[in-house]
Amino acid sequence: MTREQPLTTPAARYDFVIAGGGIGGLSCALALARKDFRVAVLERAAEFGELGAGIQMGPNAFTALDYLGVGEAARAGAVYIDRLILMDSLDGGQICSIDVGADFRQRFGNPYAVIHRADLHRSILDGCRAAANVDLFTHACVIGFEQSADGVVVRAGAAEPIRARALIGADGLRSVVRDALLGDGEPRVSGDVTYRAVLPLDDMPEELRWNDMTIWCGPGTHVVHYPLRGWKLFNLVVTCHARQKVEAHNEPADPSEVLPWFSQLCEKPMGLVKTPKEYRRWVLCDRAASERWTHERVALLGDAAHPMLQYFAQGACMALEDAVSLAEAAALEPDDIPGALVIYELDRIQRTADVQLGSRMMGRLYHATDAERRVRQQLLGSMSQAEFRENLAWLYGHDVCRIATAARPAGARSPS
Ligand SMILES: Cc1cc2nc3c(=O)[nH]c(=O)nc-3n(C[C@H](O)[C@H](O)[C@H](O)COP(=O)(O)OP(=O)(O)OC[C@H]3O[C@@H](n4cnc5c(N)ncnc54)[C@H](O)[C@@H]3O)c2cc1C
Repeated sequence: MTREQPLTTPAARYDFVIAGGGIGGLSCALALARKDFRVAVLERAAEFGELGAGIQMGPNAFTALDYLGVGEAARAGAVYIDRLILMDSLDGGQICSIDVGADFRQRFGNPYAVIHRADLHRSILDGCRAAANVDLFTHACVIGFEQSADGVVVRAGAAEPIRARALIGADGLRSVVRDALLGDGEPRVSGDVTYRAVLPLDDMPEELRWNDMTIWCGPGTHVVHYPLRGWKLFNLVVTCHARQKVEAHNEPADPSEVLPWFSQLCEKPMGLVKTPKEYRRWVLCDRAASERWTHERVALLGDAAHPMLQYFAQGACMALEDAVSLAEAAALEPDDIPGALVIYELDRIQRTADVQLGSRMMGRLYHATDAERRVRQQLLGSMSQAEFRENLAWLYGHDVCRIATAARPAGARSPS
């Protein structure tokens, strides 16, 4: 029996209803199910799935995937790269290289890897399918909710309302739950535009077939590439500050639109940017960090809570960490869900704000010109491997399982 079904009949009462079945929503469902909560995931699409592109997973993501019990499944589909490399796309020189081999793994207890999004999503979805206390609903677009002292009633399309002790909005950048909870308007359109392509190995220029996550930094642009799926594919992500002010999401784009932004690039990265016959376009959005994302029995998670630019490659990693934190908080206070959501919020808000802000700063570093470019080369070019690891410890060495179980901080606000 398939466990995915359209939401057409009145469902049982759940502990948690989760709006959105992306990486964040499914991770949250699985994390809560492993703490014996009964969970329903409402996904608006006809099927659960992810984009056909790559994603980078820092060591902190594997900590969370292990917590969910799907670490081995995810590892099986990953490519273990050797280095994170920054190259200068004007002169072709290397700015710096961070070795993510044995010393890095030992320092952070896990690898840095790259994986196809569909493979990562499937490993978490399979975990949910195998959990008896997770119900997965498709064609279930959340349109609103009402909460009272003892529960939440969630409305999804024309289906009967669904009841739960709490609602988690994991419904992405344009979250309906966030809008109802915070009403803080549209996300910020950054003006940076990303074009994505996935190349078969044979199409990847031979001189760039590296087992590394490589970023070519240039004035107002950067180009990222890495191998995927046992080196059968290469992921290519090219970004420019095109000043576009209208959001775009996964639209087809002709190379003739892309190439003019990269005309300053030297031969190697330029050859790569010219390779795809078609790109998919995103106009990137984020938000400034929020002061809160919980109210009583409703909380946000993943991009709905803290949308960020992808320049630290941490949006999905943060969603995975959120899931662990929320499950730990709920297990700590199983009879006081509003209290548990406050613990979750306190645990996550500063951490994700650091990464949101850091992601904006990384964009500035990648796109630097003139004096800023020289400062970048000097600063990064002079760091030792040990210094890189220590500078990244706040990000990759974060123990999400431990801090979520810490006592509620003194002065924590009450749920109301
Ligand atoms: C170009 C690019 C590269 C990136 N690279 C990386 C990377 O290397 N590493 C990394 O960690 N992160 C990366 N990210 C960020 C990462 O993709 C996101 O942070 C992550 O996918 C967010 O997951 P989510 O589940 O919170 O949201 P989403 O993936 O947006 O999922 C939301 C889900 O909710 C559903 N939904 C929406 N509205 C409703 C509704 N009303 N009712 C029911 N369902 C609804 C949607 O259909 C979707 O399935 C990148 C992002 C971009 C744009």
